[in-house]
Amino acid sequence: LIRPVAGFERMGEENAFAVLARAHALAAEGRDIVNLGIGQPDFSTPAHIVEAAIKALRDGQHGYTPSTGIEPLRLAVAADVHRRLGAEIDPGRVAIVPGGKVTMFSAILMMGEPGVEILYPDPGFPIYRSMIEFTGARPVPVPIREENGFAFSAEETLDLITQNTRLLILNSPANPTGGVTPKAEIDKLVAGLAEHPRVAILSDEIYDQFLFDGEEHTTLLSYPDIRDRLILLNGWSKTYAMTGWRLGWALWPEALFESARKLAVNAWSCVNAPAQFGALAALTGPQDCVAQMVAEFDRRRHLVVEGLNALPGVSCATPKGAFYAFPNVTGTGWTSAKKLASALLEQAGVATIGGPDFGVNGEGYIRLSYANSAENITRALERMRQFLVDVR
Ligand code: PLP
Repeated sequence: LIRPVAGFERMGEENAFAVLARAHALAAEGRDIVNLGIGQPDFSTPAHIVEAAIKALRDGQHGYTPSTGIEPLRLAVAADVHRRLGAEIDPGRVAIVPGGKVTMFSAILMMGEPGVEILYPDPGFPIYRSMIEFTGARPVPVPIREENGFAFSAEETLDLITQNTRLLILNSPANPTGGVTPKAEIDKLVAGLAEHPRVAILSDEIYDQFLFDGEEHTTLLSYPDIRDRLILLNGWSKTYAMTGWRLGWALWPEALFESARKLAVNAWSCVNAPAQFGALAALTGPQDCVAQMVAEFDRRRHLVVEGLNALPGVSCATPKGAFYAFPNVTGTGWTSAKKLASALLEQAGVATIGGPDFGVNGEGYIRLSYANSAENITRALERMRQFLVDVR
């Protein structure tokens, strides 16, 4: 009998894709499903980006590109980071990758092995833990707490670092909570990291433009002392409504860049060429499309938070970033948030994700992605209200 190596038995999943498949299956049976499960903007990619990719194909951009991406795109990433965040980055250390997820996969693969510990947010994006398990490293959850605004606590994070810690994964604005870690807390965390020079940092900043109520993004790039061990994850999927294009970018420290380049050569050669020209147009073209989408997300955020707080047994803190609400559902009488999410899909036709799919500390919560129309959000909330009243 053949079987894969043991790591694949430990490898996890992103349940949002299973919920998406189930929602599609129910819809194919004729059920009317409102999908607040998967985290992808419901907008179309702005037209000028689509046109640039089509033009690239027409212009004969059919071949392999350099494995870490076409040079104009790497330069545009550096220019964009400078314009938006005021940070200087070396375009020679930027790698264009097929999705932000590939950067976390690569970073964890590079740093994880039996005997080492990797710190990751819990609740957090499920692939962090999945990949840590795959490498045989010990996953060490950093609790992310509602009473702390779903922000990282510098003190609690630093306390978890041991001699064996090799990587710390940060994510702000965060999936699944919408939490934003305040600058003062990041200052404290970075100051504490000075005592742990062997710990690399993976900062997942894919939601850096999804901030509300005047919040400003604190990028880990603004701390020169950790630059030589910082891996920065970002991309186009969320900001420009390009999830299916499979595009992302990473900034690697000098010590890891060659490994990232070799991984690309071994695994995907390069990112698909016309998509890279689309990404170039996204960064060099007008940015009002981003502002418009974020303003629309902000309107929906209010709608979803107010609606959730009006449901029996549900309380929802106002998220400051990303496009997720993470309501506390412990008052509904459902002791398993996963069962509640599943019942909402099967019985009420509303797809959400159970908090435990994001880690043990997600019990008692469900995640709603408000990347859906105001009309659909209103329909979903009404169905949830009816369901919670009926099933009580
Ligand atoms: N990081 C976080 C926190 C995410 O929520 C996601 C997508 O849901 C990603 C990374 C991956 O993005 P991409 O679709 O570009 O691979």
